[in-house]
Amino acid sequence: MSDVFCPAPFVHFYNRGTSSGKLCCIAKGKIIHSKSAEDTWSSTKYKNVRQNLLDNKAISECQPCYDQEKLGNTSDRLYYVNKFEKNYKTKFNIDTGNNNSKPVDLDLRLSNLCNLGCRMCGPHFSSVLEKDAKVLPELAEKYNWEGQEPNQMLTDEDINWLINNNRNLRRIKFLGGEPTIMNEMYKILDMVIENKLQPIITITTNCTNVNKRFIEYLKYFKESTINMSLDGFGPTIEYIRHPANFPTIEKNANIISELATDVNVNFVVQAYNIHNLDDFITWISKNKKIRTVNSVIVHTPRGTSPFYLPIEYRKPFLEKALNNKNIDNKIFNKLKNQILHIYNSKEELPMYEFLKLTLIFDEHRNQHLFKLTPELKKYVVEHIASIGKSSIIKPRFVKHYIEKNY
Ligand code: SF4
Repeated sequence: MSDVFCPAPFVHFYNRGTSSGKLCCIAKGKIIHSKSAEDTWSSTKYKNVRQNLLDNKAISECQPCYDQEKLGNTSDRLYYVNKFEKNYKTKFNIDTGNNNSKPVDLDLRLSNLCNLGCRMCGPHFSSVLEKDAKVLPELAEKYNWEGQEPNQMLTDEDINWLINNNRNLRRIKFLGGEPTIMNEMYKILDMVIENKLQPIITITTNCTNVNKRFIEYLKYFKESTINMSLDGFGPTIEYIRHPANFPTIEKNANIISELATDVNVNFVVQAYNIHNLDDFITWISKNKKIRTVNSVIVHTPRGTSPFYLPIEYRKPFLEKALNNKNIDNKIFNKLKNQILHIYNSKEELPMYEFLKLTLIFDEHRNQHLFKLTPELKKYVVEHIASIGKSSIIKPRFVKHYIEKNY
């Protein structure tokens, strides 16, 4: 088996706006600049990529996969090789991609429309944060947001080309924003049903919106993967994923788990949920349908990473999570390694960045960090005392973190 060939450019279509894109969600660089999905698929750039891969040449866009494999990890490339080369025995074609002449595996990020503004997300992915960034220059600066227009939607022509008569359509992934509130997702699903197709449907959702319509679609598809984005238990998830309501999320997560054939959790390890890891693990362990917890340690926007928290503060919480009786359940494999990594790390980033980002959100949303984790207060007070008198932000810090009744 070739160690550089990837079937993705022959079968897969990644969309975050039609005017610019990548080979897949993790590929480097933007290589595609075409007017429509069909033009993109048959562009010279795409053909060159396919030719190089068939000639067994490594391409720079695919470096993230090559890097993972060098570390002995699995990769998206290996997923596509297993599925499309081995299982489906796809016939690859430089001009058309495959015998179907269209992509058969779709990753559609239709827009940034969302009903939540999660602290570790950004205006590119959440219309709530886009709105916030427009009125809060400090927040826009944290996200390096310069008022860029959100992604262009797929046109009707694109959707027709991608779905109509796509007999071998294998999978459609919907991400957002929040796909369940996007009319475009339902429009595409209707077209899939009209065409009597049965691809695997994969939806990443924040579990705030499970309506009758959504349930009917889930029932229709024989295979459905739902990735539930859950970053904490109880008030912690409400604080991070504002204005989410935990009881609603919990109820919806249970409904989804009954209906979908494959259920996973996406969890972002961040400064705002280190205190909550133990409760989160206990909560998730109760749901026997969850296949895996796909966790990731966040590094951007500045201030959200758990490494901004003092080591002395974070260690007891990490220890408690590592002692949770469910931590050795295989669904937490990745999370356990990440907790161990933070536990053993001596890295401590300037707390100022964390406090600044937290202050911007807390003031705007009338929330308070210490309601979640009062244990952090003494470290914050110490930190504020060490900030020079000339600092412009110090009075705001004092007012919010020291004087405010929360
Ligand atoms: S090798 Fe990896 S980065 Fe390149 S197209 Fe395949 S899955 Fe994407």
